Amino acid sequence: MPIELRTASTLSEAAGLLAGDRNARLLSGGTLIMRDINEGRLTDGLLVRITEPAYRQINASGGRIEIGAGVTMAEILKRRELAALHAPAMAVGGPAVRNMASVGGNLFAETPYGDFTVALLALDTQLMVMQGFGAARAVPLEEFLGARARGGQGLVTAVMVTPPHNAADLRFRKVSRVRPKGMAVLSVAAHLPLSGGRVAGARIALGAMASTPVRAKAVERALEGRPLDQATIAAARAVAAEGTRPATDAIASEWYRREVLPVHLARLLSGQG
Ligand SMILES: Cc1cc2nc3c(=O)[nH]c(=O)nc-3n(C[C@H](O)[C@H](O)[C@H](O)COP(=O)(O)OP(=O)(O)OC[C@H]3O[C@@H](n4cnc5c(N)ncnc54)[C@H](O)[C@@H]3O)c2cc1C
Repeated sequence: MPIELRTASTLSEAAGLLAGDRNARLLSGGTLIMRDINEGRLTDGLLVRITEPAYRQINASGGRIEIGAGVTMAEILKRRELAALHAPAMAVGGPAVRNMASVGGNLFAETPYGDFTVALLALDTQLMVMQGFGAARAVPLEEFLGARARGGQGLVTAVMVTPPHNAADLRFRKVSRVRPKGMAVLSVAAHLPLSGGRVAGARIALGAMASTPVRAKAVERALEGRPLDQATIAAARAVAAEGTRPATDAIASEWYRREVLPVHLARLLSGQG
């Protein structure tokens, strides 16, 4: 059977098409799907594209921002209210890729891709997910990533994110061997709210350190309630790789990733560029 492309004019129509055929896939920006087709890894099955405008819109109300899953990295970079997410959006490929690569597609990109998702994880993002024709329900990104390998997640319609008031409160670092657009050896995002000079509610997320982006919970515990000084950073550094399961691939070995993670985490926490 050849590849069949169907156009859904609403989100629920798209969710219904995906639910009705377990091999069907959403065609979002297509940077990964088209590569699979061009390189012969995807030769048949149903692809669904969405024309409903909401899929590609950004709505800000109060502090919370709803980003349609079809919004591209290039569009994120144009929005001042999303300044905290500009560094992770810039970390995704080169200009041609960023013009097509969507926020939704990045949630599904296999490691070492998924740089933007790492930043979303550090911001405790919720996803809006539609299964079949039902209403979209909110799913915490961490829960979604934990279940990703099992498949069948349905249609992600949007992400709900609360960027920090001060964009600098979200720190992001992507380590790659080829600059400016190589694949990640690893990436780190750190949201470090301070209260009375102490870290309160830190979220640290890691990319390429497991099969999906993961939170560095041991690091978060080491930071919590403490001033962000050299002693705290040393304590965080000592537990940086706890709970990680990086892969060995063409970019780096598992050993190398574990070795360099503490160095880059400490630099990020110290505010070094
Ligand atoms: C040359 C090149 C360089 C790249 N560099 C990077 C990089 O530096 N960092 C990085 O993170 N990524 C990189 N990527 C990978 C990719 O471009 C991004 O991860 C991108 O965000 C994927 O989004 P997309 O819209 O193109 O996904 P698509 O190709 O459209 O889809 C990818 C997968 O996600 C599923 N999907 C997409 N959206 C949804 C949704 N809303 N609901 C349910 N399923 C969905 C699709 O069905 C498909 O299985 C690169 C890719 C290329 C080709």
